Amino acid sequence: DSRVTHLSKRKDELGQLGISFNTMAERISTLLTNQQRLLRDISHELRSPLARAQLALGLTERQQTLTQMPRLKQELDRLDSMLDELLTFSKLDAGQYQLDKQRFDLTELLAEIIDVNQVEADAKQQSIVLKTTTPITISADSRLLARAIENVLRNAIKYSPVQSIISCLLQQHGQVLDITICDQGAGIAQEQLHAIFEPFYRVSDSRTPEAGGTGLGLAIVAQIIRQHGGKVNASNLDKGGLCISLQLPVN
Ligand code: ADP
Repeated sequence: DSRVTHLSKRKDELGQLGISFNTMAERISTLLTNQQRLLRDISHELRSPLARAQLALGLTERQQTLTQMPRLKQELDRLDSMLDELLTFSKLDAGQYQLDKQRFDLTELLAEIIDVNQVEADAKQQSIVLKTTTPITISADSRLLARAIENVLRNAIKYSPVQSIISCLLQQHGQVLDITICDQGAGIAQEQLHAIFEPFYRVSDSRTPEAGGTGLGLAIVAQIIRQHGGKVNASNLDKGGLCISLQLPVN
């Protein structure tokens, strides 16, 4: 089958790409010693889907069938979204993102984000409840802020059980706006709580290809909130479940 022969070539190219990633990461890490850990993690994280893609291609080659194609596509899509998130993270990290600030109603933005993600929640029969009193306006980069809130909400949907309730609370305490999203999932062990905003940090159960995700979601959230002069916090509820709060200065 000529398609299979064609794929064998792609396999070699992927192999080369893997080697290049490693060489690149090694070279850079000797130059930028303070970034070593991050670079080591990046090369490690990129290597996993790459290795699985190579495996799928190897099987295709040996078995001369195309049954591994969905798997291959899944791994390549994953690599693509990882690189995309990595780019966003590094731009934010380097302060290269020019904030496009405008004044808008935060309650409305939250309602829209909930609406967009309702399908995923419905699939797990979860209810998302928005609790807020008055309209709260803020001057911020609405696109970036929406991305931060959505990352937290999507995690709440993903990491909590069917038929559970996710609450989104928007409050103003003096000069601070607080968006807190709580779920009824398993929460996170106390000693790991501080680490979840670190790039690539994932609680071990989440480290499966099936779980999706890149481990960059909350690192991006933290960067976005910091760029707005705010801070992030994670805590467990006594009755179980994780709460992530995003605190922004009133402006
Ligand atoms: P990922 O892409 O793996 O979801 P994130 O940076 O968004 O990465 O989250 C980091 C890790 O924090 C996740 O892998 C998961 O282990 C844990 N986590 C995030 N949100 C929740 C939550 N609502 N409940 C339990 N664990 C969570």
